[in-house]
Amino acid sequence: ATSPMPEQVLAAYTEELQHIGNPSSLHAAGQAAQRRLETAREELATMLGARTPLEVIFTSGGTESDNLALKGFFWARQPRRRVIISSIEHPAVLDTAEWLEANGAELVFLPVDAQGRVNPDDVRDAIAAAPEETALISVMLANNEIGTIQPISEIAAIAREYGVPMHTDAVQACAHMPVNFAALGVSAMSVSAHKMGGPVGVGALVVARDQAPIPLLHGGGHERKLRSGTLNVAGIVAFAAAAKLTAAEMLQTVNTTASLRDYLIERIEQSIPDAHLSGPRGTGRLANNVHFTFPGCEGDSLLFGLDMAGFATSAGSACQAGVSRPSHVLISCGLSEAEARCTQRFSLGRDTTREDVDALLEVLPGVVEAGRAAGMARGNSE
Ligand code: PLP
Repeated sequence: ATSPMPEQVLAAYTEELQHIGNPSSLHAAGQAAQRRLETAREELATMLGARTPLEVIFTSGGTESDNLALKGFFWARQPRRRVIISSIEHPAVLDTAEWLEANGAELVFLPVDAQGRVNPDDVRDAIAAAPEETALISVMLANNEIGTIQPISEIAAIAREYGVPMHTDAVQACAHMPVNFAALGVSAMSVSAHKMGGPVGVGALVVARDQAPIPLLHGGGHERKLRSGTLNVAGIVAFAAAAKLTAAEMLQTVNTTASLRDYLIERIEQSIPDAHLSGPRGTGRLANNVHFTFPGCEGDSLLFGLDMAGFATSAGSACQAGVSRPSHVLISCGLSEAEARCTQRFSLGRDTTREDVDALLEVLPGVVEAGRAAGMARGNSE
């Protein structure tokens, strides 16, 4: 649900925090801050495949970026009312779309297959049903729960054919696969620093130059008038440092993490034969994501058992922690409510080692067994 800040990023962050100066000020300190900010913007633009640094609009993170894209395009495209999203979006997109629905939008959900994949033919059908009334489409690049990677450039090409703005949430993808805004061909793309080793509370919406969503925040007219507010220079500088490090290590990290991921999947399937993997295998899946259903073992029991053994895992989407309804992602993939309550996500990172994975494998079968016994005892006493 977040990632540790590597030493170099922490150093860039703390160093920048020591500077004073609002980048909008005309005095020397302000202009120096402005130069550091624009250098970071240029670096991020390069790393994210933006055509120009002007496309990078800084925000407070993934949630704000998603809100700006959905509400901003919806408002800019009035009187069109249709909003098309996949059925497995992160709550930052899903809840925003549902808020729009309560305020006049007509929501169209794209189905997914058992692995969580959107079929581009369904996208074409959904847009073609009423192209003139379609305000926007949003499909995430990679799913935060089960790691499914979507065919975004193919979907974006269909959206362009019909002149419909397309947004993609690339928050989970950025640290674990090369992401190139121009190559994806979307109108806007959300990214968040803390998913790639940067600080929490900073992110960006990359917005194509020819697109003008209506801003959420009004004020000083910063960021192409798309996002007013004094800029978080230290956060942005650290964000750029994290993105640079991520890009430099991408090939190596993806290879190492994907092979650890496949090792973990294989060993769980051997040691707990009725466990089943959610999402695709191989290149269609984020390199760092492993997600299993352990029938009869409630996700929360497993989470607490693993926590006591020193492992931080997730029973659902961590962004919905405390909400005990089964995951809409798993239900959309065809799992029953009972199955969807018995799941666990294991995320690997750039520092995860084979020893870490072996240590998890050592305790996992026992914790699953204990979780099942607790579930049966609860069942008997009810
Ligand atoms: N989108 C996705 C796919 C995410 O996984 C998350 C966070 O988990 C977000 C958006 C929200 O990002 P932030 O925490 O920066 O608001």
